[in-house]
Amino acid sequence: MLNLEKSAAAFEEAKKLMPGGVNSPVRSYRSVDCNPPFIARAEGSHIFDIDGNEYIDYVGSWGPMVVGHAHPQVVKALQEAAARGTSYGAPTLIESQLAKKVMEVYPSMEVIRMVNSGTEATMSALRLARGYTGRNKIVKFIGCYHGHSDSLLVKAGSGMATFGVPDSPGVTPGTAQDTITIPYNDFEAFKAVFAEQGAEIAAVIVEPVAGNMGLVLPKPGYLDLLRKVTTEHGALLIFDEVMCGFRASLGGAQAAYAVKPDLTCLGKIIGGGLPVAAYGGRRDIMEKVSPAGPVYQAGTLSGNPLAMTAGLETLKIITAPPEPGEPDYSRVLTIRTKKLVLGVAQKAKEAGVTLQVQQAGSMFGFFFSDKEVTDYETSAAADQEAFKVWFKAMLEQGIYLAPSQFETLFMSGAHTDEEIDRTIEAAGVALKKVADY
Ligand code: PMP
Repeated sequence: MLNLEKSAAAFEEAKKLMPGGVNSPVRSYRSVDCNPPFIARAEGSHIFDIDGNEYIDYVGSWGPMVVGHAHPQVVKALQEAAARGTSYGAPTLIESQLAKKVMEVYPSMEVIRMVNSGTEATMSALRLARGYTGRNKIVKFIGCYHGHSDSLLVKAGSGMATFGVPDSPGVTPGTAQDTITIPYNDFEAFKAVFAEQGAEIAAVIVEPVAGNMGLVLPKPGYLDLLRKVTTEHGALLIFDEVMCGFRASLGGAQAAYAVKPDLTCLGKIIGGGLPVAAYGGRRDIMEKVSPAGPVYQAGTLSGNPLAMTAGLETLKIITAPPEPGEPDYSRVLTIRTKKLVLGVAQKAKEAGVTLQVQQAGSMFGFFFSDKEVTDYETSAAADQEAFKVWFKAMLEQGIYLAPSQFETLFMSGAHTDEEIDRTIEAAGVALKKVADY
């Protein structure tokens, strides 16, 4: 039995200080009816709690830790950067270095603006799309999560789906009214919205590989349809690759599916575990952002030197050319992820549990469902009780997963084959419990 005594006491104390004891909802473990381990430190693929338990970590701080925790190259660069001062609020060379590095991998981003969170990136991209087109409405997909700005907290995924509050109090009806929501992967609904309201739509925002209703891949041709129809109607196509960037493939979903958006939002990995996100895209659109243009957006800590350093070192590691004949970083992660999901699928078969296994590059996830999952409705229909049994049994065995079926899991460069084998063995035990529950 996992001893979480110190974590439980820390959680009681934290609940007096923060709403629900946390600074971001899903961390509370409320969805799985248990207390969260409080984390003391992390290294490589491992995370350690204050009770002395050690886990193999597949949350990776919800995506950013693609090279593993406390990577020596990142830590060294950060220590050196910290000694030069933590913030100046003035232009630095490293901002341009990171911008160039991002653009090498995301050539659709001709001009880029750094911000501090994915929420800021998507919120700013929407404002820009509205400013550029002079239109008000946006289209988002049910179950996609784009951060917590008002326009986007409508039928959202992630914690909103986990806690069953798809629309948040505090978002005014006027704001919500400008957000049109339709099911993901629904070709006809998308065409119908544009046939009816195309002239009023500023932008379509989409997670091109959706990770916030669990992991859901776009159907063949769906992203092409989005591209074609938005172009025909003069609306912008925004790819929110905050999660799937550098993961669905190195060049994200836009490279994997060969669809070029007008604007892209990135986050998580480009900050290497520090608060960084970015939006960028076509030059003629981005030139509308202040001070080049009239659409206002700013940030005291934007382009922060420590955050830029962590991002740049992380991107250097994952874009380094491989040894001749060896696969590149992102391919290695994809191969490891495949090994893990196939291993778990085999264990599910042996245990007689129907499990939907999802993978996109180094992103993966499981649904306890006998139906293929293609949108929010099919994701929400998965068995939540089975998930809780699975989650707790994995945690007990030292495997740290996201505490909700509406989240995605991540592989890092620090996970070894041996750890993946251990994870598959643990999954075998957990799935037997699921079969018996
Ligand atoms: N977009 C996507 C696709 C995300 O997954 C997230 C967060 N998980 C966000 C935006 C919001 O990012 P942040 O939490 O940094 O505000």
